Parts: sequence; structure tokens; C-alpha cells
Amino acid sequence: MRYALLADIHANLTAFKAVLKDIERQGGVEEVWCLGDIVGYGPQPGRCIELLRRTKHTCIAGNHDLAAIGRLELSNFNPDAATAIRWTVEQLTDADVDFLAALPAVTEREGFTLVHGSPREPVWEYLVSISAARESFAYFKTRFCLVGHSHMPLVFKQEEGGASFIPFVESIGLVLGRGRLMVNPGSVGQPRDGDPRASYAIYDSEAGVVRLHRISYDIGEVQLKMMKNNLPVRLSVRLGQGI
Ligand code: ZN
Repeated sequence: MRYALLADIHANLTAFKAVLKDIERQGGVEEVWCLGDIVGYGPQPGRCIELLRRTKHTCIAGNHDLAAIGRLELSNFNPDAATAIRWTVEQLTDADVDFLAALPAVTEREGFTLVHGSPREPVWEYLVSISAARESFAYFKTRFCLVGHSHMPLVFKQEEGGASFIPFVESIGLVLGRGRLMVNPGSVGQPRDGDPRASYAIYDSEAGVVRLHRISYDIGEVQLKMMKNNLPVRLSVRLGQGI
């Protein structure tokens, strides 16, 4: 079976559509595993929820999803993010709110634990350091864990008494092997690793391989929509820079 690993779509419908099209081009997948933050920052939150609902998926909640339905205080967010969330709240229908409200913080699929932040702090913790990774391995029972939130493609491997980074670059398959791993497929809608192209991964369970993909999409179109809706300029500038 093949599964698509998507994180941090962030109301970027253009990027989300480009990724789904790329998945189809590669023969499709059994299911999309979505790692939270469907909304926030971007200009089309409702359309992204609608498209996800039409796609066979498993999804967990991100911090922006929870803030958009009033379950997290906006004081936890930086001013631009909070402005975008306030705007997002006005766009969501009752059905959108019900969908977001039903998302769990943690779930398990086929030997993977799915969380947004980290297994230790499923909603908030950024998993970007070896020290955080080392501690996090104690907080999930499956062999593998999928995370989002940092918007950076990253892989951590559990070592005896510690953890290490494993390179995770486009098109070089990550062989799962025997150890325990935590994998971040990067962000669909707002990458922050210096590469503005949408980021996602495909997991092939028979081959035991996860492959990272980067997809170009029309960033200008998204920036225009953000401008028309008076979303913070800095949020649209960063899309073009991948930061
Ligand atoms: Zn995010």
C-alpha cells in the first residue's frame, strides 16, 4: 500500500491541489495522512477543508486548526499568525468548524503514530533538535512517528541512549529498516527550509520506503488571493522565499 504524508497545508489550496495532482501522476495512494494545520496563514481555509474531506484521509489537529475553532488562545501566536486566524474564523462554515473540532490530537495508522508537533507535546512542540528528538522517542509506542509543525522535512533516528539526524532529500528514498524513526514530510502550504516548493512524502509499505517530493506551484496566484483578503504582507512574502 502507498500513503501520502501531508503536513501544514495552511489554507493554500493551490499548493494542496498541485500536490494531489502529483500524487495522481505517480499512480495514486490508498489514503492521505494529514498531520494538521489545514488552515491558518493562507487564503482558502474552507476550500482546503472541503478538498481534504473529498479525499480519503486520516487527519489530526494542528495548533492553527484548534485556534480557528477557539480551542487555543490567540495570545499564543505571533501577531501575523493571530491576524490570519481571526480572518480564518470568519471564513469557516459550521460544517468546517465541526470537521476541525472532531480531529484527534494523536492517532495511529499501520505502525505509525501521527501528531502535529511532537509525541511529547502533540500540538505545540517543535521537533527540530536532537535533544528534543531523544526525549520524544519515549512518548510513542509504534516504531515510527510522523510529525509536522516545523514546516521542515526532517528525519530523526533513535540511537542507543540518543538520537541522530538522517538526511531527507528529494527523491532519495528513506529506507525504514529496523530502527525507530520520526519523520516530518515538510509543509505543503508554507515551506520554511529555504525551498518554496510544496513539500510532501509518499510511504510505500511494501517497499518500506518513504520518499520526499517537492512540487512547484503558482505562488503568485496565492499571494494575490492573500493580498485581496488583506492578509499580512509578511505572510505572503515568505511563501515566495520558502522561509
Ligand atoms: Zn503549521
